[in-house]
Amino acid sequence: MSLLERVGRLLGELALHDLDALLVSRPPNVRYLTAFTGSNGLALVSSGQIIFITDFRYLTQAEEEVAPVLPGVRIEIGTGDLLELAAQLVREQEPGARVGFDDRHLTVAEHRRLCELLDGGAVLVGCGGVVEALREVKEPSEQERIAAAAQLADEALAQTLAQTGLIGRTEREIAIALELQMRTLGAESASFPTIVASGEHGALPHAQPRAVEVRRGQLVTIDWGAILDGYCSDCTRTFAAGEPSDHAREIYELVLAAQIAGLDALAVGRTGREVDAAARAVIEQAGLGDHFGHGLGHGVGLEIHESPRLSKIAPEQPLREGTVVTVEPGVYLPGELGVRIEDLVVLGCSGVRNLSSLSKELSVLQ
Ligand code: ZN
Ligand code: ZN
Repeated sequence: MSLLERVGRLLGELALHDLDALLVSRPPNVRYLTAFTGSNGLALVSSGQIIFITDFRYLTQAEEEVAPVLPGVRIEIGTGDLLELAAQLVREQEPGARVGFDDRHLTVAEHRRLCELLDGGAVLVGCGGVVEALREVKEPSEQERIAAAAQLADEALAQTLAQTGLIGRTEREIAIALELQMRTLGAESASFPTIVASGEHGALPHAQPRAVEVRRGQLVTIDWGAILDGYCSDCTRTFAAGEPSDHAREIYELVLAAQIAGLDALAVGRTGREVDAAARAVIEQAGLGDHFGHGLGHGVGLEIHESPRLSKIAPEQPLREGTVVTVEPGVYLPGELGVRIEDLVVLGCSGVRNLSSLSKELSVLQ
């Protein structure tokens, strides 16, 4: 799908919201609609025209990235405050035009300033989430980019573990080696700070790697991802450093059973709540429901966390074909251990495609 077609889908949404134009300000949304990868850009989208606004530093980049993929785009260069130029351009619309803005992203101060600059020349309508809803469904080319990022990340982990193992290395050393390996294989960066959590530290779902060595007999949770061509990947595996205890193995097998139940429940037309419930039931039946305190999964794309969510509080909307989500149950026993297993999958009409290639049998490493 070309970017003009994406903009066409957006215009359809704007019509449903009775909007004449949309001021797009969140960087991933700007990138989705214009291919601009810089940090300072806005897009003003209306049925008549797409206007891309940036500052002098990005003129060449805008001409190289935006102009070729959006024929007819008007590129405007602002000095200093881009909102001032945006307001000026909004005022070029019909008097009284209804212009949407991202009320989940624009700050209160920016909104106030925009109102002052517009001085009643347009009606501002909060409609955050419109572009995010389009981004939920990934086009085949986006699916392939996410698959490539996942493959790179898997390769990087396999190489890192083959080179150095786990026992006697600090969590930080492992995390840094893995991030370096992803960069070496061509990733733009890690898609979030890599988590390496051993032993009792594994009970913290968002643990930060410590300068603490992995010891024999511990479980080690590694949660990592790569950004390739703008798209993120996300995966978690829990490994055993030397032979684990029977209890650790039991918890591992329970989380794996929940993860498989989640994958089995995942299908176009189901809701995020239903899929979460299917995996959660496995952990609840084992009496450990209180130790799985986060949602089952989240969308992944230009951002590492995007909609839809798979959770108890997810909206009751059916999941759509082309959605890319994680399935990542965990059990966290404070002071003892944690296990999380996460795959990244694409929802298709004839089933899910798992983008995570590494084995989920408990691997015992040295
Ligand atoms: Zn993850
Ligand atoms: Zn995740």
